[in-house]
Amino acid sequence: MATIFSKIAAGEIPSWKVAEDENYYAFLDINPLAEGHTLVIPKKEVDYIFDLDDDTYLGLTAFAKKVAVALKKAIPCKRIGVAVLGMEVPHTHIHLVPLQSERDLDFTKEKKQLSPERFKEIAEAIAANIE
Ligand code: AMP
Repeated sequence: MATIFSKIAAGEIPSWKVAEDENYYAFLDINPLAEGHTLVIPKKEVDYIFDLDDDTYLGLTAFAKKVAVALKKAIPCKRIGVAVLGMEVPHTHIHLVPLQSERDLDFTKEKKQLSPERFKEIAEAIAANIE
């Protein structure tokens, strides 16, 4: 059965898309740690990032870099933090989180509540900066 993230990449479940190519897809996390918190996935369904074949792994990190550069331009922050957890969704994903401090990468803290309009605005701002 397809994972929820495969359904998102296929457009069967809505998402706030930030970037896409043939093999990778990036979209806003629905429970963000900070405005602009983005998930980057390979379209290939593999649960654990270190089970990816080398080409997909390297392509994913290059794609995530492109998204992170755009994210930093769109959202004022000191750096983009990177995390891989996969405790909830068994489909490889990289979290990109705009950081003001190291506390912004604490996954146990309360998540931000954003309106659909704000999610849309943020996704469009990031997408506009993708090169
Ligand atoms: P983890 O697997 O531990 O890395 O966590 C999964 C992440 O996916 C969490 O941060 C969730 O908020 C996020 N998430 C789960 N479902 C969706 C969805 N439909 N759209 C966007 N983000 C999601």
